[in-house]
Amino acid sequence: MQTGLTPEIETKLRKALRSAGRREIGGMLFAEQLAPGKFRVVDLSVDRHSGSHASFRRDPTAHEQALKAFFDRTNRDFSRFNYLGEWHSHPSFSVRPSAEDVATMSELVTNERSAIAFAVLLIVRLRFRFWLDQSWTVFERGHSPRTPKPILRWI
Ligand SMILES: [Zn+2]
Repeated sequence: MQTGLTPEIETKLRKALRSAGRREIGGMLFAEQLAPGKFRVVDLSVDRHSGSHASFRRDPTAHEQALKAFFDRTNRDFSRFNYLGEWHSHPSFSVRPSAEDVATMSELVTNERSAIAFAVLLIVRLRFRFWLDQSWTVFERGHSPRTPKPILRWI
């Protein structure tokens, strides 16, 4: 699998991280599938109501609304535009997924009632107000978590 952020989304993410300061924020990742297994993030939701890392939680209603809005914008072309996963920031420590992050994502893809067979976790941290540290992990039912390859060229 290959993943990456478009330059527009990187800019949006930097702005959100700057205004959040030391507060942890996160949301959902929405992607366009460019080729089988090749996904670029074309939109993301920003949940501004989360607090510290320990208290970070998804807000199901807000996420439902963001998902619906994305599907409406992309004319319900689900095979091309779809939910890719989750993102959040680690403003004060390394972007490595925590044990809790791994457990939460594994539960998301292994839950019998969940329709999600795979999901990506992106953790970001802004350093020196500009440099964006990123860690990407793919969680897939029946597989160990792994790191996707970056998309180096957009064409
Ligand atoms: Zn985390």
